[in-house]
Amino acid sequence: MNARLDSPLPTDPQTILQEVFGYEAFRGQQQPVVEQVIAGGDALVLMPTGGGKSLCYQIPAIARQRAGRGVTLVVSPLIALMHDQVGALHEAGVPAAFLNSTLDWEQAEEIERRLLAGQLTLLYAAPERVATPRFLGLLDTLHAHGALSLFAIDEAHCVSQWGHDFRPEYRQLTVLHERWADVPRIALTATADATTRADIVERLQLQDAAQFVSSFDRPNIRYTIVEKKEPTRQLLQFIEQQHEGEAGIVYCQSRKRVEELAATLCAHGLDALPYHAGLDAAVRQQNQDRFLREDGVVMVATIAFGMGIDKPDVRFVAHLDMPKNIEGYYQETGRAGRDGAPADAWMAYGLQDVVNQRRMIDESPAGEDFKQVMRGKLDALLALAEATGCRRERLLGYFGEDMAGIVDAPDSGAACARHEPSAGTFEHESAAQRYRRGFCGNCDNCLQPPEVWDATDAARKLLSTIFRVQQMSGIGFGAGHLMDIVRGKATDKVAQYGHQQLSTFGIGADLSEAQLRSVLRQLIAVGAVQVDAQAFNTLKLLEAARPILKGEQAVRLRAASAPGPATRSRRTRSAAPPPAVAELDAAGQVRFAALKAWRAEVARAHDLPAYVIFHDATLAAIAARAPQTPADLQGISGIGAAKLEKYGDEVLRLVRDSAA
Ligand code: ADP
Ligand code: ZN
Repeated sequence: MNARLDSPLPTDPQTILQEVFGYEAFRGQQQPVVEQVIAGGDALVLMPTGGGKSLCYQIPAIARQRAGRGVTLVVSPLIALMHDQVGALHEAGVPAAFLNSTLDWEQAEEIERRLLAGQLTLLYAAPERVATPRFLGLLDTLHAHGALSLFAIDEAHCVSQWGHDFRPEYRQLTVLHERWADVPRIALTATADATTRADIVERLQLQDAAQFVSSFDRPNIRYTIVEKKEPTRQLLQFIEQQHEGEAGIVYCQSRKRVEELAATLCAHGLDALPYHAGLDAAVRQQNQDRFLREDGVVMVATIAFGMGIDKPDVRFVAHLDMPKNIEGYYQETGRAGRDGAPADAWMAYGLQDVVNQRRMIDESPAGEDFKQVMRGKLDALLALAEATGCRRERLLGYFGEDMAGIVDAPDSGAACARHEPSAGTFEHESAAQRYRRGFCGNCDNCLQPPEVWDATDAARKLLSTIFRVQQMSGIGFGAGHLMDIVRGKATDKVAQYGHQQLSTFGIGADLSEAQLRSVLRQLIAVGAVQVDAQAFNTLKLLEAARPILKGEQAVRLRAASAPGPATRSRRTRSAAPPPAVAELDAAGQVRFAALKAWRAEVARAHDLPAYVIFHDATLAAIAARAPQTPADLQGISGIGAAKLEKYGDEVLRLVRDSAA
């Protein structure tokens, strides 16, 4: 056992942040978390994706190891990610390893040897391994030598049935606390809701832990929801105008659509790949690896893609079909911009999405109660899509966060009811502190407030047509036919049913089809009209239609946006790459390109994703500074001591050569 008590290395967190990781400042609540854990306290950390959870345990692990306290055990459910996480630590010069089923017996043996020799700062393991007698024995030995420093439990929501990926093995992790009560624990998750949080506290016996609750706002993500017209063309325009050459994810509903769209994007010169559960496992793996490891790949995928993707430089997430609910939308869009640089969440949404989602619920074999809940969740998403006010305010409001001030008192609610007074809860700067009421300045509606029109009249024309047609013909009809009647189009079908005799025939001749379509979509969204999936998608009136028909309730809707190129607000800030790259002059662009090519080679040689070597932002900063000496490289965000030593000379040579 070698506890390195003589180590001269600094243990202060700020110095570790700068020297090891090359970062200037802590983000959000990282600093109080790190201080709590270094001091030996327990912590429960709730931070959104991209909030920087890893440093919350990596810095204490380093500090405590340097202080002679031994190794940190990181429990993580995602075996696929361990390799890259450990690789990133190696790059930063931190001794780390993982023990999981991908290793053969000899490799595992070697890691155990290093562990017992005190050579590791962090050890990653899957929960099922942690609970084995052999592993518990290892921990016993370490503990007996005072070399078991910290337990970090990542993705802590896996312990709860209420979280979205329950792992029964997580329940066994209580053994850590029961057997080695003096070893501090930090549990981390991006799953915020109160039920899950309370369950984590109870299941992992974290009643005495300090809770660090961050705002779930993602200020660098710009939310945009456009009306779906020609989705493929709209998507291409969005990517080409704003994200040329950048990594992104495009979500579609069906496998067939995924395949078609990936092919179309490729035909337009984009580096696009398909991903869905119907693909051969090897192909899926290969596509995922390329997305993670290469630059600027666009993944066209069903929702099967995403779990455990921690690529930080995904610059956009686009939805070509609407998800089922806001939880899904937030989780999927949350994969954009983990690195904190500007990113887009873009969705195209139309009448057909509303119809499809309603039908899927209606046709599902679930019980009526469950369907009711699903409909409520869908309605909340529709309301978001139709909103004329700030999207962010709606999103945060849905998760119980108020942009305007009344953030939950820390000790209210079931989740905190069991708090010991000593533990305490630390709320991060709330969204309320950041924004004025209802204005975030970084969503489509805030940047360019939509025109709103009084659609009461148009809505009544449509509703009364649905009513009269049903009365006259004894059957319902679909949207197209009803709109033809309202607009007074004498089609064959109109003639066949004698619908030109209806008193409402042609009463909406002044309305465009786009306007009517948008009125109908929103009437469905608010529950005034139902699409009957069991009867050829015919439309029926619901109770909520009555006050509108009677003129008791006004309907104010988003104006159907004029057709044409993507939104104007965008073009004013058309910068496709992150700002730092866009600001480079011609010589800087040449350096940036050379650095990227070099990084790709290094990443391939080390079998690691490119971002593990350096983030784009770091390369851009190097390209801008055009450093001549190692001293010029110092202080660039993302260049820690180990990387400076390992790559400094090469980077300097590259910068020199690209000037030639
Ligand atoms: P999470 O696990 O919470 O989704 P990560 O720990 O993966 O987030 O961090 C997201 C990204 O942010 C990573 O690429 C990480 O290097 C970077 N990061 C984290 N903390 C900081 C910081 N204080 N300064 C700069 N970059 C940071
Ligand atoms: Zn907004």
